[in-house]
Amino acid sequence: MSDEKTVTTMRLVGGSPVLDFVNTVDARRDRWGPDLLRTYDDLIEWAIRVGLITSEVGAGLAKASAAAELDAALAEAKALRESIYAVFQAEAAGEPAPAPQGADLTRAASRALSNRRLCHAGAQFFWGWKDDGDLNTIADRVALEAAELLVTSKLRRPVRECLGPYCGWLFLDSSRGGHRRWCSDASCGTHMRVRRFRASRAHGERS
Ligand SMILES: [Zn+2]
Repeated sequence: MSDEKTVTTMRLVGGSPVLDFVNTVDARRDRWGPDLLRTYDDLIEWAIRVGLITSEVGAGLAKASAAAELDAALAEAKALRESIYAVFQAEAAGEPAPAPQGADLTRAASRALSNRRLCHAGAQFFWGWKDDGDLNTIADRVALEAAELLVTSKLRRPVRECLGPYCGWLFLDSSRGGHRRWCSDASCGTHMRVRRFRASRAHGERS
């Protein structure tokens, strides 16, 4: 079996679909890629997995669209992903959000809001979407989630950037002490401990 990472097998450690979206690039620091969103189908599969769309909506998106339209929607979603990354990476670094990417996110959230619709089923009202078949609906849903994370920054845990080599994944630090350093203790955490152990042993052998 191939151990190649896909949107189906990638670890969901961001603590938010927004950060898990950013983490569909494995890895970010020092070595960008591979990009796990290779096709629009990958985007659909990912969105179903994190609960942004139902499998019924996903099935509707997958059919009856020209390849060029799917490619364009995927490219747009990935451009949004990189803007979201820049904004939250700045938060992790304790810096202001970069203006161009902040503006991208504002535009994306405005479009997403204009695509929402107040729906009701019987007596129950809820926020739905004007068109579940819109190829940009996944990007719209991510953009609104990202906006919500940003406006609630004072009420939630901080975003951190994994310190693992080649990693750079982002996550909400929900640890009790608020000092989580790794996207996953089992992967990057262990990797760093092994590296440190080897480095200290090599140092010991030289001295
Ligand atoms: Zn990591």
